Amino acid sequence: MNNSPLEPSRGLSRRKFLAATSSAALLFTLGGLRGLAWSAPIELGALPYAENALEPVISAKTIGFHYGKHHKGYLDNLNKLIAGSEFADMPLEKIITETSGKADKTAIFNNAAQTWNHSFYWQSLSPKGGGTPPSDLKNKINDSFGDLDTCMKELSAAAVGRFASGWAWLVSDGDKLKVMNTMNADTPITSGLKPLLTIDVWEHAYYLDYQNRRADYVKAVQEKLINWEFAAKTWADFHPPQTTERLQHCDAEGVLCCASAMQTHSPMILTSTRFFLRPSNSP
Ligand code: MN
Repeated sequence: MNNSPLEPSRGLSRRKFLAATSSAALLFTLGGLRGLAWSAPIELGALPYAENALEPVISAKTIGFHYGKHHKGYLDNLNKLIAGSEFADMPLEKIITETSGKADKTAIFNNAAQTWNHSFYWQSLSPKGGGTPPSDLKNKINDSFGDLDTCMKELSAAAVGRFASGWAWLVSDGDKLKVMNTMNADTPITSGLKPLLTIDVWEHAYYLDYQNRRADYVKAVQEKLINWEFAAKTWADFHPPQTTERLQHCDAEGVLCCASAMQTHSPMILTSTRFFLRPSNSP
């Protein structure tokens, strides 16, 4: 998915790469693709909705400038800054973690982090957002905050209370959720935290629609746009269902069998070298 900040696309996307190959073995070299020499620029992923889809909470004009000028501007700057450098072939997240806290890499960090944060922000919003989270995530929110209302109040306070420019986040910190904010381009991923949602509180995110009324923008986003489905999916990706034994045993033929989150699936070949997922109750 090109607009995923977790898999930013370059000139040759993973999907195109896979479509161009028919060898199953190549499927299992995906983790190694990062090592291939491709220096195509990082691409601006598509917005997950039309520019006017978030109206009336956020106008098409705001989204047009925010996505088409600000987000694109960070990305264009980043591609210029990393061209021909040691960062040219790195995944976006690695560029961020490699440049974080390094005074001589501030420009690269700022533009890389802002590129990532904005991609994550677009997905944190939905024209059908608001309401309550899916039950698994809601249970986790209740575990961590007591109830959803408390979580939302903390998120609002983090967003409204962020002095000057920055971001408010709901993140996964180990097995717990917490709310935080970051300043300017800073992003929780440099601290090993896993973001579930973000609200952009730079003035460019709301000033055309709300002027100085940041609290009204935050309230409207929380009530109407916040994409709980995305947050739930992101949380589930970080926390697959637990099973009693992840790697179960080797069978008589030396085939490694797994009892995993996929235990309801049919047995499937994971690699070309006899590595299988099987239901935990299979022989
Ligand atoms: Mn922004």
